[in-house]
Amino acid sequence: MTIRHTTDSFRASLLNEQDFTLSFELVPGRGSGGKRLDAILQFAEECKKDGRITALSITDNPGGHPALAPTSLGLDIQALGLAPLIHVSLKDKNRNMAESQLFECHRHHLLNLLVLSGDYPRYGFHGQAKPVFDLDSPQLLTLIHRLRQPLPLEKGAPGSLMPLPAMDFMAGCVVSPFKTTEAEQRFQYTKLLTKIWAGADFIVSQLGFDINKYQELLNFCRDNSVRQPVLASVFIPSIKVAEMMHQGQVPGIIFSKTLLHTMREEAKHPDQGEEARLIRGAKMVAVLQQMGYAGVHLGGNNLSFVKVAFLLDQAEYFRKTADLQELRHEVDFPFPQTWYMRSQSLDSLASRQRPSLRFRINQQIHDEIFTPSGFLFPVAKKVCLGVDRNRQARRLFSWCEQLLKIIFFRCRSCGDCTITEANYLCPQSGCPKKMINGPCGGSLHGFCEVYPGERVCFWVRVYQQNPAAHLDSKSPTPLPPKDWALQGSSSWINYFTERDHHKKDG
Ligand code: SF4
Repeated sequence: MTIRHTTDSFRASLLNEQDFTLSFELVPGRGSGGKRLDAILQFAEECKKDGRITALSITDNPGGHPALAPTSLGLDIQALGLAPLIHVSLKDKNRNMAESQLFECHRHHLLNLLVLSGDYPRYGFHGQAKPVFDLDSPQLLTLIHRLRQPLPLEKGAPGSLMPLPAMDFMAGCVVSPFKTTEAEQRFQYTKLLTKIWAGADFIVSQLGFDINKYQELLNFCRDNSVRQPVLASVFIPSIKVAEMMHQGQVPGIIFSKTLLHTMREEAKHPDQGEEARLIRGAKMVAVLQQMGYAGVHLGGNNLSFVKVAFLLDQAEYFRKTADLQELRHEVDFPFPQTWYMRSQSLDSLASRQRPSLRFRINQQIHDEIFTPSGFLFPVAKKVCLGVDRNRQARRLFSWCEQLLKIIFFRCRSCGDCTITEANYLCPQSGCPKKMINGPCGGSLHGFCEVYPGERVCFWVRVYQQNPAAHLDSKSPTPLPPKDWALQGSSSWINYFTERDHHKKDG
Protein backbone atom coordinates (compact mmCIF):
# COMPACT_ATOMS: atom_id res chain seq x y z
CA MET A 1 0.00 0.00 0.00
CA THR A 2 2.81 2.39 0.85
CA ILE A 3 4.32 1.75 -2.52
CA ARG A 4 1.14 2.73 -4.36
CA HIS A 5 0.92 5.86 -2.29
CA THR A 6 4.44 7.02 -3.11
CA THR A 7 3.96 6.41 -6.82
CA ASP A 8 0.73 8.32 -6.78
CA SER A 9 2.24 11.32 -5.00
CA PHE A 10 3.79 12.48 -8.28
CA ARG A 11 0.48 12.05 -10.07
CA ALA A 12 -1.42 13.82 -7.29
CA SER A 13 1.02 16.72 -7.34
CA LEU A 14 0.86 17.08 -11.13
CA LEU A 15 -2.90 17.03 -11.15
CA ASN A 16 -3.17 19.55 -8.33
CA GLU A 17 -3.02 22.99 -9.94
CA GLN A 18 -1.95 24.56 -6.65
CA ASP A 19 1.17 22.38 -6.44
CA PHE A 20 4.50 23.25 -8.02
CA THR A 21 5.86 19.78 -8.81
CA LEU A 22 9.56 19.11 -8.47
CA SER A 23 11.32 16.14 -9.99
CA PHE A 24 15.01 15.38 -10.33
CA GLU A 25 16.75 13.34 -13.02
CA LEU A 26 19.05 10.49 -11.99
CA VAL A 27 21.50 8.97 -14.44
CA PRO A 28 22.53 5.40 -13.54
CA GLY A 29 25.81 4.40 -15.14
CA ARG A 30 27.13 1.12 -16.49
CA GLY A 31 27.18 -1.67 -13.92
CA SER A 32 24.95 -2.94 -11.15
CA GLY A 33 26.53 -1.32 -8.13
CA GLY A 34 29.52 0.65 -6.92
CA LYS A 35 30.17 4.15 -5.73
CA ARG A 36 28.06 5.88 -8.33
CA LEU A 37 24.95 3.94 -7.41
CA ASP A 38 25.67 4.32 -3.69
CA ALA A 39 25.78 8.09 -4.23
CA ILE A 40 22.48 8.00 -6.14
CA LEU A 41 20.77 6.07 -3.35
CA GLN A 42 22.26 8.43 -0.76
CA PHE A 43 20.83 11.32 -2.80
CA ALA A 44 17.43 9.61 -2.86
CA GLU A 45 17.43 9.06 0.91
CA GLU A 46 18.20 12.71 1.59
CA CYS A 47 15.61 13.71 -0.95
CA LYS A 48 12.98 11.66 0.86
CA LYS A 49 13.90 13.27 4.21
CA ASP A 50 13.69 16.76 2.71
CA GLY A 51 10.30 16.11 1.11
CA ARG A 52 10.24 18.82 -1.57
CA ILE A 53 11.07 16.69 -4.59
CA THR A 54 8.08 14.55 -5.57
CA ALA A 55 9.65 12.23 -8.13
CA LEU A 56 13.06 10.96 -9.13
CA SER A 57 13.25 10.27 -12.84
CA ILE A 58 15.61 7.59 -14.09
CA THR A 59 17.15 7.72 -17.54
CA ASP A 60 17.14 4.77 -19.97
CA ASN A 61 20.59 4.19 -21.52
CA PRO A 62 21.23 7.94 -21.86
CA GLY A 63 23.53 9.11 -24.64
CA GLY A 64 22.91 5.77 -26.36
CA HIS A 65 25.26 3.92 -23.97
CA PRO A 66 24.42 0.85 -21.90
CA ALA A 67 23.51 1.53 -18.27
CA LEU A 68 21.61 -0.05 -15.40
CA ALA A 69 17.95 -0.51 -16.44
CA PRO A 70 15.72 2.25 -15.00
CA THR A 71 13.22 -0.25 -13.60
CA SER A 72 15.93 -1.74 -11.39
CA LEU A 73 16.89 1.57 -9.83
CA GLY A 74 13.20 2.52 -9.82
CA LEU A 75 12.46 -0.32 -7.41
CA ASP A 76 15.21 0.88 -5.06
CA ILE A 77 13.83 4.41 -5.19
CA GLN A 78 10.34 3.13 -4.56
CA ALA A 79 11.53 1.10 -1.59
CA LEU A 80 12.87 4.33 -0.09
CA GLY A 81 9.35 5.75 -0.29
CA LEU A 82 9.83 8.04 -3.30
CA ALA A 83 8.00 8.10 -6.64
CA PRO A 84 10.18 6.91 -9.53
CA LEU A 85 9.57 8.32 -13.00
CA ILE A 86 10.78 5.64 -15.40
CA HIS A 87 12.14 6.75 -18.78
CA VAL A 88 11.11 4.45 -21.62
CA SER A 89 13.16 5.09 -24.73
CA LEU A 90 12.85 3.24 -28.02
CA LYS A 91 16.36 3.22 -29.42
CA ASP A 92 17.25 -0.26 -28.29
CA LYS A 93 14.01 -2.18 -27.88
CA ASN A 94 11.43 -3.28 -30.40
CA ARG A 95 7.68 -3.06 -29.81
CA ASN A 96 7.52 -6.43 -28.05
CA MET A 97 10.34 -5.57 -25.68
CA ALA A 98 8.73 -2.19 -25.02
CA GLU A 99 5.46 -3.92 -24.17
CA SER A 100 7.33 -6.36 -21.89
CA GLN A 101 8.85 -3.40 -20.08
CA LEU A 102 5.38 -1.93 -19.61
CA PHE A 103 4.19 -5.21 -18.06
CA GLU A 104 7.24 -5.24 -15.82
CA CYS A 105 6.59 -1.66 -14.74
CA HIS A 106 2.94 -2.37 -14.05
CA ARG A 107 3.75 -5.51 -12.07
CA HIS A 108 6.00 -3.47 -9.78
CA HIS A 109 3.65 -0.46 -9.60
CA LEU A 110 6.14 1.70 -11.48
CA LEU A 111 3.30 3.61 -13.10
CA ASN A 112 4.89 6.95 -13.93
CA LEU A 113 6.60 6.86 -17.29
CA LEU A 114 8.42 9.33 -19.48
CA VAL A 115 8.29 8.27 -23.13
CA LEU A 116 11.07 9.29 -25.52
CA SER A 117 12.51 8.10 -28.78
CA GLY A 118 15.98 8.29 -27.24
CA ASP A 119 19.51 9.18 -28.33
CA TYR A 120 20.98 7.25 -31.22
CA PRO A 121 22.84 4.17 -29.88
CA ARG A 122 26.57 4.71 -29.52
CA TYR A 123 29.31 2.68 -27.92
CA GLY A 124 28.45 -0.81 -26.67
CA PHE A 125 29.97 -4.27 -26.33
CA HIS A 126 32.30 -4.78 -29.34
CA GLY A 127 31.33 -1.53 -31.03
CA GLN A 128 28.30 0.54 -31.82
CA ALA A 129 24.93 -1.01 -30.97
CA LYS A 130 22.26 -1.59 -33.60
CA PRO A 131 19.60 1.13 -33.54
CA VAL A 132 16.08 -0.25 -33.20
CA PHE A 133 13.41 2.51 -33.19
CA ASP A 134 10.69 -0.01 -34.07
CA LEU A 135 8.20 2.41 -32.47
CA ASP A 136 8.41 6.15 -32.03
CA SER A 137 7.14 8.04 -29.01
CA PRO A 138 3.59 8.76 -30.30
CA GLN A 139 3.22 5.08 -31.17
CA LEU A 140 4.36 3.96 -27.71
CA LEU A 141 2.01 6.48 -26.12
CA THR A 142 -0.78 4.95 -28.23
CA LEU A 143 0.13 1.49 -26.93
CA ILE A 144 0.17 2.75 -23.33
CA HIS A 145 -3.20 4.37 -23.86
CA ARG A 146 -4.54 1.11 -25.20
CA LEU A 147 -3.21 -0.80 -22.18
CA ARG A 148 -5.07 1.58 -19.89
CA GLN A 149 -8.32 -0.07 -20.95
CA PRO A 150 -9.12 -3.72 -20.25
CA LEU A 151 -9.21 -4.62 -23.92
CA PRO A 152 -8.85 -7.98 -25.62
CA LEU A 153 -5.65 -8.38 -27.64
CA GLU A 154 -5.55 -8.11 -31.42
CA LYS A 155 -7.37 -10.86 -33.27
CA GLY A 156 -5.14 -13.87 -33.83
CA ALA A 157 -2.57 -12.89 -31.17
CA PRO A 158 -1.64 -15.67 -28.74
CA GLY A 159 -4.08 -15.53 -25.81
CA SER A 160 -6.23 -13.03 -27.68
CA LEU A 161 -9.45 -14.18 -26.07
CA MET A 162 -8.24 -13.13 -22.64
CA PRO A 163 -8.49 -9.35 -22.03
CA LEU A 164 -5.50 -7.80 -20.29
CA PRO A 165 -6.19 -6.04 -17.00
CA ALA A 166 -6.23 -2.24 -17.31
CA MET A 167 -2.87 -0.66 -16.55
CA ASP A 168 -3.14 2.70 -14.95
CA PHE A 169 -0.02 4.38 -16.30
CA MET A 170 0.69 8.09 -16.12
CA ALA A 171 2.75 8.76 -19.23
CA GLY A 172 4.62 11.92 -20.05
CA CYS A 173 6.22 13.13 -23.25
CA VAL A 174 9.05 15.48 -24.12
CA VAL A 175 9.21 18.52 -26.39
CA SER A 176 11.98 20.93 -27.24
CA PRO A 177 10.96 24.58 -27.45
CA PHE A 178 14.61 25.52 -28.00
CA LYS A 179 15.12 24.69 -31.68
CA THR A 180 16.86 27.45 -33.57
CA THR A 181 15.31 26.93 -37.02
CA GLU A 182 11.72 27.32 -38.13
CA ALA A 183 11.39 23.81 -39.56
CA GLU A 184 12.67 22.09 -36.42
CA GLN A 185 10.58 24.23 -34.09
CA ARG A 186 7.33 23.89 -35.96
CA PHE A 187 7.79 20.14 -36.21
CA GLN A 188 8.51 19.91 -32.46
CA TYR A 189 5.17 21.53 -31.79
CA THR A 190 3.14 19.56 -34.34
CA LYS A 191 4.66 16.38 -32.92
CA LEU A 192 3.74 17.55 -29.42
CA LEU A 193 0.10 17.72 -30.52
CA THR A 194 0.44 14.20 -31.91
CA LYS A 195 1.78 12.98 -28.55
CA ILE A 196 -1.08 14.67 -26.72
CA TRP A 197 -3.55 13.07 -29.12
CA ALA A 198 -1.87 9.71 -28.47
CA GLY A 199 -2.52 10.05 -24.74
CA ALA A 200 0.38 11.91 -23.07
CA ASP A 201 -0.67 12.98 -19.57
CA PHE A 202 2.05 15.52 -18.94
CA ILE A 203 4.84 17.30 -20.80
CA VAL A 204 8.49 17.78 -19.90
CA SER A 205 10.49 20.36 -21.82
CA GLN A 206 13.99 19.81 -23.11
CA LEU A 207 16.56 21.65 -21.01
CA GLY A 208 17.49 25.10 -22.21
CA PHE A 209 18.54 28.60 -21.31
CA ASP A 210 16.34 30.82 -23.49
CA ILE A 211 13.57 32.33 -21.36
CA ASN A 212 11.46 33.49 -24.31
CA LYS A 213 11.49 29.95 -25.66
CA TYR A 214 10.26 28.64 -22.30
CA GLN A 215 7.48 31.21 -22.54
CA GLU A 216 6.64 30.17 -26.10
CA LEU A 217 6.00 26.59 -25.02
CA LEU A 218 3.39 27.74 -22.52
CA ASN A 219 1.88 30.08 -25.10
CA PHE A 220 1.69 27.26 -27.63
CA CYS A 221 -0.06 24.97 -25.12
CA ARG A 222 -2.53 27.71 -24.21
CA ASP A 223 -3.26 28.59 -27.86
CA ASN A 224 -3.82 24.94 -28.76
CA SER A 225 -5.93 24.05 -25.71
CA VAL A 226 -3.30 21.65 -24.38
CA ARG A 227 -4.30 21.24 -20.74
CA GLN A 228 -1.65 18.73 -19.69
CA PRO A 229 0.68 20.03 -16.96
CA VAL A 230 4.06 21.16 -18.30
CA LEU A 231 7.31 20.75 -16.38
CA ALA A 232 10.28 22.89 -17.41
CA SER A 233 13.67 21.20 -17.40
CA VAL A 234 16.30 23.15 -15.51
CA PHE A 235 19.79 21.75 -15.77
CA ILE A 236 22.84 22.83 -13.78
CA PRO A 237 25.85 21.86 -15.88
CA SER A 238 29.41 21.71 -14.62
CA ILE A 239 31.83 23.76 -16.68
CA LYS A 240 33.03 20.58 -18.41
CA VAL A 241 29.50 19.57 -19.41
CA ALA A 242 28.79 23.17 -20.45
CA GLU A 243 31.78 23.00 -22.84
CA MET A 244 30.45 19.73 -24.28
CA MET A 245 26.97 21.18 -24.70
CA HIS A 246 28.36 24.24 -26.42
CA GLN A 247 30.30 22.03 -28.83
CA GLY A 248 27.07 20.22 -29.71
CA GLN A 249 28.16 16.94 -28.11
CA VAL A 250 24.89 16.47 -26.21
CA PRO A 251 22.07 15.67 -28.66
CA GLY A 252 19.54 18.45 -29.11
CA ILE A 253 21.02 20.85 -26.57
CA ILE A 254 21.47 24.49 -27.52
CA PHE A 255 24.10 26.25 -25.43
CA SER A 256 25.08 29.82 -26.23
CA LYS A 257 28.60 31.21 -26.31
CA THR A 258 27.50 34.00 -23.94
CA LEU A 259 26.49 31.52 -21.26
CA LEU A 260 29.69 29.55 -21.68
CA HIS A 261 31.70 32.73 -21.40
CA THR A 262 29.79 33.69 -18.22
CA MET A 263 30.47 30.27 -16.73
CA ARG A 264 34.15 30.44 -17.60
CA GLU A 265 34.38 33.74 -15.73
CA GLU A 266 32.52 32.28 -12.75
CA ALA A 267 34.86 29.28 -12.74
CA LYS A 268 37.75 31.61 -11.83
CA HIS A 269 36.24 31.95 -8.35
CA PRO A 270 37.73 29.72 -5.56
CA ASP A 271 34.58 27.54 -5.58
CA GLN A 272 35.02 27.15 -9.36
CA GLY A 273 31.74 28.89 -10.02
CA GLU A 274 29.59 26.37 -8.19
CA GLU A 275 27.54 28.82 -6.16
CA ALA A 276 26.93 31.03 -9.19
CA ARG A 277 25.62 28.04 -11.16
CA LEU A 278 23.27 27.03 -8.36
CA ILE A 279 22.02 30.61 -7.93
CA ARG A 280 21.35 30.86 -11.66
CA GLY A 281 19.40 27.60 -11.46
CA ALA A 282 17.44 28.94 -8.48
CA LYS A 283 16.58 32.10 -10.37
CA MET A 284 15.41 30.03 -13.33
CA VAL A 285 13.15 27.96 -11.07
CA ALA A 286 11.62 31.14 -9.59
CA VAL A 287 11.10 32.68 -13.03
CA LEU A 288 9.55 29.52 -14.50
CA GLN A 289 7.22 29.13 -11.54
CA GLN A 290 6.01 32.67 -12.00
CA MET A 291 5.68 32.09 -15.76
CA GLY A 292 3.06 29.43 -15.09
CA TYR A 293 4.87 26.10 -15.34
CA ALA A 294 3.30 23.29 -13.33
CA GLY A 295 6.71 22.35 -12.01
CA VAL A 296 10.36 21.91 -12.75
CA HIS A 297 12.34 18.87 -13.78
CA LEU A 298 15.78 19.44 -12.28
CA GLY A 299 19.02 17.89 -13.37
CA GLY A 300 22.75 18.39 -13.20
CA ASN A 301 25.94 16.43 -13.09
CA ASN A 302 27.73 15.83 -9.79
CA LEU A 303 25.05 17.52 -7.72
CA SER A 304 24.78 16.34 -4.13
CA PHE A 305 21.45 16.74 -2.43
CA VAL A 306 22.89 19.50 -0.21
CA LYS A 307 23.46 21.58 -3.35
CA VAL A 308 19.98 20.84 -4.68
CA ALA A 309 18.46 21.81 -1.31
CA PHE A 310 20.45 25.07 -1.44
CA LEU A 311 19.12 25.74 -4.94
CA LEU A 312 15.53 25.12 -3.81
CA ASP A 313 15.95 27.38 -0.76
CA GLN A 314 17.31 30.13 -2.97
CA ALA A 315 14.50 29.64 -5.51
CA GLU A 316 11.94 30.14 -2.77
CA TYR A 317 13.78 33.23 -1.55
CA PHE A 318 13.84 34.76 -5.06
CA ARG A 319 10.21 33.87 -5.66
CA LYS A 320 9.18 35.77 -2.56
CA THR A 321 11.53 38.73 -2.68
CA ALA A 322 12.90 39.39 -6.16
CA ASP A 323 11.61 41.35 -9.10
CA LEU A 324 11.02 38.37 -11.36
CA GLN A 325 10.89 40.47 -14.54
CA GLU A 326 14.37 41.63 -13.69
CA LEU A 327 15.49 38.06 -12.99
CA ARG A 328 14.23 36.96 -16.41
CA HIS A 329 16.94 39.02 -18.06
CA GLU A 330 19.62 37.67 -15.74
CA VAL A 331 18.97 34.05 -16.66
CA ASP A 332 18.17 34.54 -20.33
CA PHE A 333 20.89 33.18 -22.64
CA PRO A 334 19.34 32.87 -26.10
CA PHE A 335 21.25 31.49 -29.03
CA PRO A 336 21.84 34.19 -31.68
CA GLN A 337 19.70 33.93 -34.83
CA THR A 338 17.12 31.74 -33.19
CA TRP A 339 13.73 31.52 -34.88
CA TYR A 340 10.78 32.29 -32.64
CA MET A 341 7.15 31.37 -33.20
CA ARG A 342 6.17 34.95 -32.46
CA SER A 343 8.13 36.11 -35.52
CA GLN A 344 6.28 33.72 -37.81
CA SER A 345 4.31 36.35 -39.70
CA LEU A 346 7.45 38.37 -40.40
CA ASP A 347 10.10 35.98 -41.63
CA SER A 348 8.43 32.61 -41.82
CA LEU A 349 9.24 30.24 -44.68
CA ALA A 350 5.71 28.91 -44.23
CA SER A 351 4.16 32.20 -45.23
CA ARG A 352 6.42 33.03 -48.16
CA GLN A 353 7.77 29.86 -49.72
CA ARG A 354 5.79 27.88 -52.31
CA PRO A 355 5.88 24.07 -52.39
CA SER A 356 8.91 22.77 -54.30
CA LEU A 357 8.58 21.62 -57.90
CA ARG A 358 9.46 18.09 -56.81
CA PHE A 359 6.61 18.15 -54.29
CA ARG A 360 4.11 19.51 -56.81
CA ILE A 361 4.97 16.92 -59.47
CA ASN A 362 4.80 14.05 -57.00
CA GLN A 363 1.57 15.27 -55.51
CA GLN A 364 -0.04 15.52 -58.94
CA ILE A 365 1.01 11.97 -59.82
CA HIS A 366 -0.06 10.67 -56.42
CA ASP A 367 -3.46 12.33 -56.60
CA GLU A 368 -4.20 10.88 -60.02
CA ILE A 369 -3.25 7.34 -59.05
CA PHE A 370 -3.87 6.93 -55.33
CA THR A 371 -6.81 9.14 -54.40
CA PRO A 372 -10.28 7.72 -55.15
CA SER A 373 -11.18 10.80 -57.22
CA GLY A 374 -8.01 10.46 -59.34
CA PHE A 375 -8.21 9.83 -63.06
CA LEU A 376 -6.06 6.68 -62.92
CA PHE A 377 -7.29 5.37 -59.56
CA PRO A 378 -9.81 2.78 -60.88
CA VAL A 379 -7.27 1.35 -63.36
CA ALA A 380 -4.45 1.27 -60.81
CA LYS A 381 -6.67 -0.45 -58.27
CA LYS A 382 -7.87 -3.03 -60.78
CA VAL A 383 -4.30 -3.82 -61.91
CA CYS A 384 -3.00 -4.13 -58.32
CA LEU A 385 -5.86 -6.36 -57.18
CA GLY A 386 -5.43 -8.52 -60.31
CA VAL A 387 -1.64 -8.84 -59.90
CA ASP A 388 -2.06 -9.70 -56.24
CA ARG A 389 -3.82 -12.96 -57.17
CA ASN A 390 -0.76 -14.42 -58.91
CA ARG A 391 2.47 -15.04 -57.01
CA GLN A 392 4.82 -14.68 -59.99
CA ALA A 393 3.09 -11.53 -61.25
CA ARG A 394 3.17 -10.09 -57.73
CA ARG A 395 6.92 -10.64 -57.44
CA LEU A 396 7.62 -9.08 -60.82
CA PHE A 397 5.36 -6.14 -60.03
CA SER A 398 7.07 -5.59 -56.63
CA TRP A 399 10.46 -5.70 -58.28
CA CYS A 400 9.49 -3.08 -60.88
CA GLU A 401 7.93 -0.83 -58.26
CA GLN A 402 10.98 -1.05 -56.05
CA LEU A 403 13.35 -0.26 -58.90
CA LEU A 404 11.37 2.84 -59.76
CA LYS A 405 11.12 3.95 -56.14
CA ILE A 406 14.78 3.31 -55.39
CA ILE A 407 15.68 5.65 -58.26
CA PHE A 408 13.27 8.42 -57.28
CA PHE A 409 12.94 8.06 -53.50
CA ARG A 410 15.84 5.87 -52.30
CA CYS A 411 13.13 3.40 -51.26
CA ARG A 412 13.97 0.68 -48.71
CA SER A 413 11.08 -1.59 -49.72
CA CYS A 414 9.30 -1.51 -46.37
CA GLY A 415 6.01 -2.34 -48.09
CA ASP A 416 4.09 0.31 -46.11
CA CYS A 417 4.85 3.55 -47.87
CA THR A 418 4.59 6.82 -45.91
CA ILE A 419 6.24 9.15 -48.42
CA THR A 420 2.97 11.02 -48.94
CA GLU A 421 2.95 11.93 -45.26
CA ALA A 422 6.61 13.06 -45.56
CA ASN A 423 6.14 15.32 -48.59
CA TYR A 424 7.44 12.65 -50.97
CA LEU A 425 10.70 11.88 -49.18
CA CYS A 426 11.38 8.42 -47.74
CA PRO A 427 11.92 8.32 -43.94
CA GLN A 428 13.29 4.78 -44.14
CA SER A 429 16.35 5.92 -46.11
CA GLY A 430 16.41 9.58 -45.03
CA CYS A 431 16.15 9.42 -41.22
CA PRO A 432 18.65 7.29 -39.25
CA LYS A 433 16.01 6.73 -36.56
CA LYS A 434 13.34 6.01 -39.19
CA MET A 435 10.93 8.41 -37.51
CA ILE A 436 7.62 8.50 -39.38
CA ASN A 437 5.65 10.88 -37.15
CA GLY A 438 8.01 13.84 -37.21
CA PRO A 439 11.53 14.45 -35.93
CA CYS A 440 13.21 13.32 -32.75
CA GLY A 441 14.52 15.99 -30.41
CA GLY A 442 18.17 15.45 -31.29
CA SER A 443 18.65 17.80 -34.23
CA LEU A 444 20.90 20.81 -33.83
CA HIS A 445 20.64 23.99 -35.91
CA GLY A 446 18.83 21.99 -38.60
CA PHE A 447 21.35 19.15 -38.73
CA CYS A 448 20.72 15.51 -37.87
CA GLU A 449 21.78 14.27 -34.43
CA VAL A 450 23.58 11.34 -36.04
CA TYR A 451 25.50 13.41 -38.63
CA PRO A 452 25.97 16.78 -36.90
CA GLY A 453 27.04 19.57 -39.23
CA GLU A 454 27.03 17.12 -42.15
CA ARG A 455 23.51 16.03 -42.97
CA VAL A 456 20.41 18.18 -42.70
CA CYS A 457 17.73 16.58 -40.51
CA PHE A 458 15.38 14.57 -42.72
CA TRP A 459 12.36 16.40 -41.27
CA VAL A 460 13.88 19.79 -42.07
CA ARG A 461 14.02 18.64 -45.69
CA VAL A 462 10.43 17.45 -45.43
CA TYR A 463 9.44 20.88 -44.15
CA GLN A 464 11.27 22.65 -46.94
CA GLN A 465 9.28 20.73 -49.54
CA ASN A 466 6.06 22.42 -48.48
CA PRO A 467 6.41 24.82 -45.51
CA ALA A 468 2.88 26.18 -45.80
CA ALA A 469 1.42 22.77 -44.90
CA HIS A 470 2.31 23.56 -41.29
CA LEU A 471 -0.03 26.52 -41.26
CA ASP A 472 -3.04 24.26 -41.90
CA SER A 473 -4.60 22.48 -38.97
CA LYS A 474 -3.50 18.94 -39.70
CA SER A 475 -4.79 15.80 -38.03
CA PRO A 476 -2.54 14.99 -35.07
CA THR A 477 -3.30 11.27 -35.43
CA PRO A 478 0.02 9.39 -35.50
CA LEU A 479 0.84 6.89 -38.20
CA PRO A 480 0.78 3.38 -36.73
CA PRO A 481 3.95 1.28 -36.48
CA LYS A 482 5.09 -0.56 -39.58
CA ASP A 483 4.03 -4.16 -40.06
CA TRP A 484 7.33 -5.94 -40.68
CA ALA A 485 5.50 -8.75 -42.44
CA LEU A 486 5.17 -6.36 -45.39
CA GLN A 487 8.92 -5.80 -45.80
CA GLY A 488 9.95 -6.43 -49.43
CA SER A 489 6.41 -6.56 -50.79
CA SER A 490 4.71 -4.06 -53.11
CA SER A 491 3.49 -0.98 -51.21
CA TRP A 492 1.11 -0.16 -54.10
CA ILE A 493 -0.59 -3.55 -53.82
CA ASN A 494 -0.60 -3.23 -50.03
CA TYR A 495 -2.27 0.16 -50.36
CA PHE A 496 -5.05 -1.00 -52.64
CA THR A 497 -5.60 -4.20 -50.65
CA GLU A 498 -5.58 -2.16 -47.39
CA ARG A 499 -2.80 -4.21 -45.82
CA ASP A 500 -0.71 -1.13 -45.05
CA HIS A 501 -1.32 1.67 -42.55
CA HIS A 502 -4.55 2.57 -44.36
CA LYS A 503 -6.22 -0.58 -43.06
CA LYS A 504 -9.31 0.19 -41.06
CA ASP A 505 -8.08 -0.99 -37.64
CA GLY A 506 -4.65 0.55 -38.32
S1 SF4 B 1 17.08 12.92 -39.38
FE1 SF4 B 1 16.15 14.29 -37.87
S2 SF4 B 1 14.58 13.01 -36.92
FE2 SF4 B 1 15.94 11.60 -37.96
S3 SF4 B 1 17.49 11.03 -36.43
FE3 SF4 B 1 18.32 12.78 -37.52
S4 SF4 B 1 17.69 14.51 -36.23
FE4 SF4 B 1 16.41 12.81 -35.63
